[in-house]
Amino acid sequence: MPLPTRHFDALIIGAGGAGLNAALQLASADLRVAVVSKVFPTRSHTVAAQGGVNAALANVQPDSWHWHMFDTVKGSDYLGDQDAIEFMCREAIPTVYELEHAGVPFSRLANGKIYQRPFGGQSQHFGGEQATRTCAAADRTGHAILHTLYQQAIRARTHFFDEFFAIDLVRDAEGILCGALVLEIESGEPLLIEAKATLLATGGCGQVFRTTSNAHINTGDGCAMALRAGIPLMDMEFFQFHPTGIAGKGMLISEGTRGEGGYLINSQGERFMEQYAPHARDLASRDVVSRAIVTEVKAGRGCGPERDHVLLKLDHLGAEVIAKRLPGIRELSRIFAGVDPAQAAIPVFPTAHYAMGGIPTDRFGRVVMPVGHGSEEVVLGLYAAGECACASVHGANRLGGNSLLDILVFGRLAGQDIRTFVRDHPYPRPAHSASIEQALARLTRWEQRGSGPTVQTLRAEFRACMEDHAGVFRTEAILREGIERLQTIRERLTDVRLTDHSRVFNTARIEALELDNLIAVGMAIAQSALHRQESRGAHARPDYPERDDHAWLKHSLYYQDGDRLDYKPVRTKPLTVESFPPRERVY
Ligand SMILES: Cc1cc2nc3c(=O)[nH]c(=O)nc-3n(C[C@H](O)[C@H](O)[C@H](O)COP(=O)(O)OP(=O)(O)OC[C@H]3O[C@@H](n4cnc5c(N)ncnc54)[C@H](O)[C@@H]3O)c2cc1C
Repeated sequence: MPLPTRHFDALIIGAGGAGLNAALQLASADLRVAVVSKVFPTRSHTVAAQGGVNAALANVQPDSWHWHMFDTVKGSDYLGDQDAIEFMCREAIPTVYELEHAGVPFSRLANGKIYQRPFGGQSQHFGGEQATRTCAAADRTGHAILHTLYQQAIRARTHFFDEFFAIDLVRDAEGILCGALVLEIESGEPLLIEAKATLLATGGCGQVFRTTSNAHINTGDGCAMALRAGIPLMDMEFFQFHPTGIAGKGMLISEGTRGEGGYLINSQGERFMEQYAPHARDLASRDVVSRAIVTEVKAGRGCGPERDHVLLKLDHLGAEVIAKRLPGIRELSRIFAGVDPAQAAIPVFPTAHYAMGGIPTDRFGRVVMPVGHGSEEVVLGLYAAGECACASVHGANRLGGNSLLDILVFGRLAGQDIRTFVRDHPYPRPAHSASIEQALARLTRWEQRGSGPTVQTLRAEFRACMEDHAGVFRTEAILREGIERLQTIRERLTDVRLTDHSRVFNTARIEALELDNLIAVGMAIAQSALHRQESRGAHARPDYPERDDHAWLKHSLYYQDGDRLDYKPVRTKPLTVESFPPRERVY
């Protein structure tokens, strides 16, 4: 039977904030756009974002996009590309107003303006006043944004393929990417979607680690698809561990709690952040706070019977503030930690949260690849935006509130560029049979009955390995041992045992496909971390404790073929303002 095929101008894989904002640009230009999502769109991880989105609106304190830019460059430990950062921080202001006009129900100040709260890594610019830049809808900002975007996309008649799983990208006879093979989860039937342009907006990969704030669906599928298409992943060693996950469980307690005045204490009741970051204290950058917590616990000053976590104190804020500004946090804490934060402190420990790296793109969401002699080229017809992409605005460490911003700004830009691309390349490009076969083989391989471990067993082993060997602190010996274990896990995947061979809603097969993707991304993280011999941002190497700008002010590029690494320079020149030269990073 011939493979069912659909044709669109643009295919967007992922219906989170990035994918939906891109889709809106396309639908309003009357293009035929398909949005594929493995879960119902409003279940994308964007819905879980709590704290808010950064924009220098200056509603509470004086502020400017230029300071936002400085904080972001400093937060990135100078590894972010300054042209992209300038662009994002300038665009932040109209982006938030656009959201407001689209219907996002932001919290309000007494004067009716959008409510803003302080967040980590925002400097004290004026007479010691902390910048207050994070626009919030209580502690459910992502929920408010995603639902609004989804409603707008429905209004614009976007074509959604809900609960379809993208398996792999496909190419035409000339080798140009032209869509993807997807699987309808309900029926188990494959479908070929051919498109003139394809956008990867598949979100994060936090499931690589055992303890994570990320949803189960964040398995790095888009990054793995890019790797298999021969595209490198950039800066994958920089993985953010959020300081305040619920201890032992990983669910996120937003930085907004510290923005509202919460603080961390150790078993001696000390506000230990005062020693690690005398000025910003609990609102230092995330990498700094996470390392401080791990250091306190290692020094025996952890809390609880196992002395394995610290406490986040909020009760002094009063029940009223907690109910108004942090209702979701109260609920999470009650359910998962058994603690009402209005009465007692929440047990917290760092949790794997965010991939700073991803598929390398330019400012327009176009995927770029090196072609030798220090130059790079656009990969024709392929775009990436959101957490799976690396437009290089976060560098070695992302500031809280900058990811919602990133997905919205670059999602929109990618959508706009696709419009131009489709206009300039109007002819359909049919997928080549060999490429389709290759993608189909990824599916049919799970019809064999292996005799090895189950997907669940291997997945648990893999995630534990990543946590033990590529966590908050890494050394050469620990990473090398981890990579050996990962190589064995990668080989054992070929013999994984699948007991469910039915077609309809076969989630076992989906989990196997996801595990394959997770392992590919995990290897990218570990290999990139092994090779970077310095400490910068979220990449902390006790065996190389200093930042080394002379040797390492450059981006890593990991290729799956041969686990090879390459490097490219950081773009230190902004678009219109002067460059911020690397300085020591203190908070
Ligand atoms: C708990 C939590 C709180 C956060 N809070 C904040 C915050 O306050 N401020 C902030 O700036 N950032 C925050 N972040 C980070 C931010 O929310 C995410 O980085 C961002 O929402 C990612 O958006 P996205 O559009 O790239 O991807 P997502 O929203 O994750 O969407 C990914 C989409 O891809 C689809 N998909 C993936 N793989 C496939 C496949 N194989 N086939 C088909 N579809 C696929 C999924 O179905 C989904 O629709 C938070 C993150 C977490 C986990």
